[in-house]
Amino acid sequence: MTRLEPNGTIEAKVGATRHQSKHIGRAVSSEQRVYILHSQDCVDTGRDLRVCPYSVALDEGIQTGTDTPWEDAEDKPVELEIDENMGDLIPAGIVCHICNAKPVTVYTHGRRYCDDHGFEDDPTDTETTR
Ligand SMILES: [Zn+2]
Ligand SMILES: [Zn+2]
Repeated sequence: MTRLEPNGTIEAKVGATRHQSKHIGRAVSSEQRVYILHSQDCVDTGRDLRVCPYSVALDEGIQTGTDTPWEDAEDKPVELEIDENMGDLIPAGIVCHICNAKPVTVYTHGRRYCDDHGFEDDPTDTETTR
């Protein structure tokens, strides 16, 4: 479950100052936890932050480690985004696993691909043979 933290604490944890419109987060690998610094716009709604879509998405958990969106994105502040297809929390600006350029539209075997690519184009995808 999402836990609420006092403002100063969460800013220190995430290592960023509150942004007007962006949700910033940090996945702390040693704690297996993600801290969310909600945007000022979000806070200004006055709602319980636990019902914020980012908090709800976080309850899905995140995928960490090699070949996940969080590879190279743990233990530092990153802008957060909610994956349209999977509903989980990912670092903003995740691009296709193959071309590393186009935005992701499909999700297969824990990897994300653009319109032009899929896991069948991915020579490193071994899941299909398991
Ligand atoms: Zn929020
Ligand atoms: Zn691609």
